[in-house]
Amino acid sequence: MRIILLGPPGAGKGTQAQFICEHYCIPQISTGDMLRAAVKCSTSLGLKAKKIMDAGGLVSDDIIIGLVQERITQADCQNGFLFDGFPRTIPQAEAIDKAGIVIDHVLQIDVPDTEIIQRIAGRRLATQGDPRSDDNEETVKQRLAVYHKQTAPLIDFYKNLPTKQPDHKPAFHIINGLGTIEAIRERIIAVLG
Ligand code: ADP
Repeated sequence: MRIILLGPPGAGKGTQAQFICEHYCIPQISTGDMLRAAVKCSTSLGLKAKKIMDAGGLVSDDIIIGLVQERITQADCQNGFLFDGFPRTIPQAEAIDKAGIVIDHVLQIDVPDTEIIQRIAGRRLATQGDPRSDDNEETVKQRLAVYHKQTAPLIDFYKNLPTKQPDHKPAFHIINGLGTIEAIRERIIAVLG
């Protein structure tokens, strides 16, 4: 099973990703987590990425595509994987397509901006000991703006992919991201089967 999780920052992708991955025994490939690991280890990529992440911008497509391509050659990806936070731009989605990677399901977790801003303020209070340096209100607004400009177009990209790729069309599902974690989980199980 190969799955893409789409949705704005704070939509609950990470939480639901963990559950989906346990349920289907596939690894979670979170480009955000990979970048935060690089930042923690102060690799040259990490040093470059930190500035961009703290400003709410996107790390360059080439770097991200390289990271993911290397990751999916590992043995644990043989039966599939879940992309969390990738692709985030049209060129990233086109790179998946060009590499001949067939995606089975695209899940878009839908949450309105007003709710996102409240949630991230809550997350910041809850994680005071180890807050994410990009979880302040300014940066969240910037991340949301970037999401609408660069990532939201992927919704139409995946809706229209069947005409370009009739044999490999991923099923596209919109999941209502409001409600309890369990309620959202049930909605996801219902569409994935
Ligand atoms: P969230 O979904 O909560 O915004 P992530 O953990 O997915 O957070 O990503 C954090 C930051 O890492 C992003 O704001 C961006 O700077 C960078 N990043 C993560 N994934 C990508 C990607 N696929 N392309 C470009 N930048 C990315």
